[in-house]
Amino acid sequence: MPKSPLMKRLLALFKKTHEKDDEADVYPSQLTADYEVTKKTLGVGSFAVVKECIHKDTRKPYALKIILKKVIAGKEHMLDSELDILTKVHHSHIVSMHGLYESVDAVYIVTDLASGGELFQQLLDKGSYTERDAANLLRQLLEGLAYLHDLDIVHRDIKPENLLFATKDVDAKLMITDFGLSKILKNHDDILMTACGTPGYVAPEVLLQKGHGKPVDLWSVGVIAFVLLSGYTPFYGEDQAALFENIMSGKYEFDEEYWSDISDSAKNMIDRLLTFDPEKRITAKEALKHPWITNEEEQTTTDTNLAPAVRKGLHSHTKFKSVVTAMTLLNQWKHLDDELSDISSDTDSEVEKATSQVNDLDIHDATA
Ligand code: ADP
Ligand code: MG
Repeated sequence: MPKSPLMKRLLALFKKTHEKDDEADVYPSQLTADYEVTKKTLGVGSFAVVKECIHKDTRKPYALKIILKKVIAGKEHMLDSELDILTKVHHSHIVSMHGLYESVDAVYIVTDLASGGELFQQLLDKGSYTERDAANLLRQLLEGLAYLHDLDIVHRDIKPENLLFATKDVDAKLMITDFGLSKILKNHDDILMTACGTPGYVAPEVLLQKGHGKPVDLWSVGVIAFVLLSGYTPFYGEDQAALFENIMSGKYEFDEEYWSDISDSAKNMIDRLLTFDPEKRITAKEALKHPWITNEEEQTTTDTNLAPAVRKGLHSHTKFKSVVTAMTLLNQWKHLDDELSDISSDTDSEVEKATSQVNDLDIHDATA
């Protein structure tokens, strides 16, 4: 798990506002009347610190997404869109919202708890998985996306960190989270031009500033599918400029060394997702009917255990991800530097603690 400067700053600011001596004053009283906020940190994103909370009546655990107002200063519209979207969305493969609270420092959103961890982290731990397992994960992602796209919602930040398993069970369902960058499209074919998204997963038309519609999500699914089957990303670069260049070229290869055991059906599906022209790219609904996903045609997939190769590839992938994400977002944080100058850099261990807690998280502990 990366310890990006960004996460360190977010945690430092979180400590300053939420780990005061007088803990009683930290959370809105409305919130603490309904929920008990535990010490467990579930994760840290680009904008939010996510804690665990427990409903006082039912003792059911939830996730508490805490968005510090300082962090989004000048970007409040992003938050508005996130909340707007979360209240409208109810689907078994999408994390939904159960409560909303506000204090002077932050906004608090209670959502479904997805205690199974992030997509790749989880796969790293798994002993073995096959193409069928990968197809099953992608089907769930596509079902969630098809639903969002029907509501004219483009997620725009589909990436592994935003895909969480509901529980630690082997057959836990996959859930889509983090609508921070989404916008509700007013018209079906409205194209949003704001540049955002995470570099490795971002569609070429976004970088070329030629569009921001639903197909951008399918491109990201294509990158995820590629990584799920090989452990490495289809597009790469020494630095961000080179990465962008590579994505904008739209060229990628199924290197024989890694792809010889993968079915043609899987490769066809990826080609349909990583289609350069967004208008020709497969839609979520169409992708759900692709033979590799439906498994209707017998023998479309191989039984090769992908785990060893993918695990190897993912280790470098994780490093790559942290570098690129940190670089992109660091600029947004410049205004916080002064604010945090009085805070020592002991946040390193905080990040470590938070991330190991993600790994250790057990839903039963919380309810016991
Ligand atoms: P950001 O908008 O800052 O990126 P996210 O919503 O992606 O915030 O949350 C940051 C991290 O917190 C996620 O990558 C994940 O590890 C963890 N997390 C988020 N939501 C949940 C949840 N519902 N259940 C468990 N962990 C979560
Ligand atoms: Mg996120």
